[in-house]
Amino acid sequence: MQVARKKDHWVGFDLGGTKMMACVYDGDNRPKGTSRRRTKGQIGVKAGLKRIAATIHKALGEAGVQPGQLAGIGIGCPGPLDLDRGIMLETPNLGWKNAAVAGAIEKAFGCPAVIANDVDGGVYGEYRFGAARKARCVVGVFPGTGIGGGCVYEGSILRGKTGSCMEIGHFPVTPDGPLCGCGRRGCLEAYASRLAIAANCAAAAYRGSAPHLLEDVGTDIANIRSGAIARAIRAGDRAVEDIVREAARRIGWTMAGVVNLLAPDVVLLGGGLVEEMPEIFQGEVENSLDGRVMPSLKGTYTVTVAELGDDAGVTGMAAWARHVIEGSRRS
Ligand SMILES: [Zn+2]
Repeated sequence: MQVARKKDHWVGFDLGGTKMMACVYDGDNRPKGTSRRRTKGQIGVKAGLKRIAATIHKALGEAGVQPGQLAGIGIGCPGPLDLDRGIMLETPNLGWKNAAVAGAIEKAFGCPAVIANDVDGGVYGEYRFGAARKARCVVGVFPGTGIGGGCVYEGSILRGKTGSCMEIGHFPVTPDGPLCGCGRRGCLEAYASRLAIAANCAAAAYRGSAPHLLEDVGTDIANIRSGAIARAIRAGDRAVEDIVREAARRIGWTMAGVVNLLAPDVVLLGGGLVEEMPEIFQGEVENSLDGRVMPSLKGTYTVTVAELGDDAGVTGMAAWARHVIEGSRRS
């Protein structure tokens, strides 16, 4: 006789530009099985959605959990989203358009699926289980290839009418600055993303003022990644350190505006650059923030470094799916 299994497991999924990751959790949020694969954006939407499903199946196999035991799946996605319809509208990194992720995954696993912005998923993970536990309002800023932002406000991910919000990377900091990936000029991202930092470091190496970086990885921006930047600073490349500190200060100044708007209790820093150089980022952001916020808000927040690393996204998305799906059942 077949015994009906309880639907008490959740899956968190993180869809990145280069890699994807699925993790299965039991009803007590304990991780049971994980699977990671390269994303391979070039295979297109249809094959890409199949690849997502196959990665979830692999994690389920690892966990010894049947699809029938799943209560829900949360998928963190890049790019502009239609949150209610579960569609990724555009993903420049993958070259996908109008990918109906939630619908495809619901069909494949026979349980509800929700999507959220990948940075929001990570910030929610840190809010539930990491560095921002129990914060009334946490604003996350994650400098990477671009600069991601996210906010959890009184237990919910702050969102727009149809899509996500908190595009901190595209906060306009100068009226006529360098061209940004979004097509506008003078966004924070154009000054302080890893790409902007790497471009300045490449110029410094080319000029001869960053000899360790030059010897380690040369002047190709693609090779000047967070680890190489951190190594150059440790080896004594003062010019590289100045570039990173300047970028971190710009992030802090911009965050002062965000703090004035939202009065968060936690400003959360994460992403590859911060993981490699936590002291530099925390110190510079804290100092520049303190010097720029409205005096009455000084001391009302802490600047904290994320704790969960790569796991923040999957653990956050599983918990967010549960929050949304169980919440909708109650109402
Ligand atoms: Zn921009």
